[in-house]
Amino acid sequence: MTEIIDGKAVASDIRTGLLDSIQTLTDAGTTPCLATVLMNDDPASATYVSMKHKDCKEVGIATRDIELDPETPAEELFDTIDDLNADPDVHGILVQMPLPDHVDEREVLRRIDPAKDVDGFHPENVGRLVAGNARYKPCTPHGVQKLLAAADVETEGADAVVVGRSNIVGKPMANLLIQKAEGGNATVTVCHSRTDDLAEKTRNADIVVAAAGVPEMVTGEMISEGTVVIDVGINRVETEDGSELVGDVDYDSVAEKASAITPVPGGVGPMTRAMLLWNTVKSAGDVADIDVDLP
Ligand code: NDP
Repeated sequence: MTEIIDGKAVASDIRTGLLDSIQTLTDAGTTPCLATVLMNDDPASATYVSMKHKDCKEVGIATRDIELDPETPAEELFDTIDDLNADPDVHGILVQMPLPDHVDEREVLRRIDPAKDVDGFHPENVGRLVAGNARYKPCTPHGVQKLLAAADVETEGADAVVVGRSNIVGKPMANLLIQKAEGGNATVTVCHSRTDDLAEKTRNADIVVAAAGVPEMVTGEMISEGTVVIDVGINRVETEDGSELVGDVDYDSVAEKASAITPVPGGVGPMTRAMLLWNTVKSAGDVADIDVDLP
């Protein structure tokens, strides 16, 4: 019997678990606050940002909503980030990607105060993660780690295959799985577009995390009986009636063999959103020097 790992339910438990910490912080005079900066015209980005604000509002996290015209000079974006860095009432800063061509994304990531970098993409935070001393774990891989724990999947000693090596998903995912820590201790293979015989790697895995951005590329033939399959992919594909969201995993054929699988939507997506709240609360706790209980 294949377990369907319900990301919506696990994310909801995490949000509920954060409520007490948020109350404790607010009572002590520190209301956690997330600032977002949107500098593109992409409707999908605007939707992501508004969802983040809605999530914050639901749990009592304050927000700042900054929108800059895509033509704005890069210096003005940097000044905005500097102001947010200096603002003691702001605990998390998130600059929504992508940015216009005239802005260097790496420079933006470096400009954010690492203590407020709730995405966990500042080089200092990347280094800390790799060194096993993470301040903020990036939201999507952290969410996957929480999902595995919620489904009682033992990572220690497991052979894990991560399909994808991006800085936001694949690499931090692999780093979390190899850490000598709870939710880690796996033996990890990282695959990418130049990997020779991907199916041979995934067939030998106990856990497969698919984050390639290729619709339904991981098929049942690539998976052995009893594998745990986590589908990070979110791809909009055309259908006869319009379009639909699918993951990087061919759900029907893989579910026949997997011992546990995440659906799309309703798997990793809600976890990414919940872990952003988690990181923001952590940041506020650090600033207020209050040991908050994080779920
Ligand atoms: P990127 O495009 O940045 O990276 C994709 C990675 O997959 C690359 O390393 C690429 O290899 C590899 N890849 C591409 N094609 C293949 C292939 N045929 N075989 C093996 N590896 C391949 O994507 P992201 O990491 O940003 O996102 C991955 C997916 O996850 C996307 O669908 C995205 O929408 C989704 N996503 C979902 C989130 C959520 O909350 N659920 C959050 C973030 C992303 P190479 O390096 O060689 O190019």
